[in-house]
Amino acid sequence: MAGSTLTSQPAPIASRLATRMSRLGTETAFEVLARAQALEARGRSIIHLEIGEPDFATPEAVVEAGVRALRDGHTHYTPSPGIAPLREAVAAEMHRTRGLRVSPEQVVVTPGAKPILFFALLALVDHGDEVICPDPGFPIYESMIRYAGGAVVPVTLPESNAFRLDIAGLRRAVTPRTKMIILNSPANPTGGVLEPEDLARIAEIAVEHDLMVFADEIYSRLLYEGEHHSIAVLPGMAERTILLDGFSKTYAMTGWRLGYGVMPLDLVPHISRLMTNSNSCTAAFTQLAGLEAITGDQAPVEAMRAEFLRRRDVIVAGLNALPGVRCALPKGAFYAFPNITATGLGARDLATRLLDEAGVATLAGSSFGAGGEGYLRLSYANSVENIQEALARMGRFLTELQGGR
Ligand code: PLP
Repeated sequence: MAGSTLTSQPAPIASRLATRMSRLGTETAFEVLARAQALEARGRSIIHLEIGEPDFATPEAVVEAGVRALRDGHTHYTPSPGIAPLREAVAAEMHRTRGLRVSPEQVVVTPGAKPILFFALLALVDHGDEVICPDPGFPIYESMIRYAGGAVVPVTLPESNAFRLDIAGLRRAVTPRTKMIILNSPANPTGGVLEPEDLARIAEIAVEHDLMVFADEIYSRLLYEGEHHSIAVLPGMAERTILLDGFSKTYAMTGWRLGYGVMPLDLVPHISRLMTNSNSCTAAFTQLAGLEAITGDQAPVEAMRAEFLRRRDVIVAGLNALPGVRCALPKGAFYAFPNITATGLGARDLATRLLDEAGVATLAGSSFGAGGEGYLRLSYANSVENIQEALARMGRFLTELQGGR
């Protein structure tokens, strides 16, 4: 065509990005993993305590159910909110594990649990709405709140309060713009657990101010003492709680991508529509594997929990013996969150040096929010031998650091 030129340079993609992309964060765990793997590719030995996924194989019966489903021809679309038997099994599981009575129609199945968070925020948060979330907390909360157009209002989880939410701080954080409170118990990254009295006081605040509550209970089966309690069962909460749980952590199924939300019935069509628009549905064979996981033999879950407990005790005792390190006993999940302020290094500095100089990949607590400064997150989803080797490497590094002062 006259006047057209084939030599003009296309504008760089960065200049074409929608402004909303500048509000989207990420998970440092994946960045640190990539750096650690790059070091390994150069021949360095690295112990991975950065990534939050069980190192166990998916239970055999679950794998079999998935393979059988594929062979039986479950290779097509399913209804957007999930297949009926799985939604029924999740509803029954809610009653069995939490005493929560819900109908299968209140369950939406998603590829991994993360979409439940994303969809709930997209469906409910308008520009300028405030969402209260734990600090330190799972970084995807902040990222997704901001992407949806909301404002993040952090509330601290003080170490002095066993990393339980500061309820007085929560009360102060509520404003007329508050839309939702995000809770996570057992918690990533601290391993802290909300006690029944915390849940009662949070529920009181939610009802008083007519707020939604997003209860991320993905670590509900990884609890080392007592029973799991859900805020959803408290008076006035069923109609305002979106409960997230899934298969990734409980059944070592991170790569299958299977999770779910349990929510008020009138929210379901909206979350389902988001599913229809994004994923259409969750993979059929994955859902059938999940059905086996949730209804079948639970012995593998108990075996994994027992092994995590053994590792927790090894890592916490080992951390407390390191110079400049103090570590509280986590009550759930598979993370230790040691206080490292007495090492004299900031969290990011220490995490970087441990990776580069000691060959131990950890995460800086500050990548989970300002409240995580002065801490590291170590995932103990690794063998006792590797944990012991990591502790030995950290010990040598920290002893040299102290000697060099
Ligand atoms: N919520 C928390 C607190 C998590 O730590 C994770 C995974 O790391 C998720 C949700 C998401 O789990 P999934 O892999 O099922 O999407």
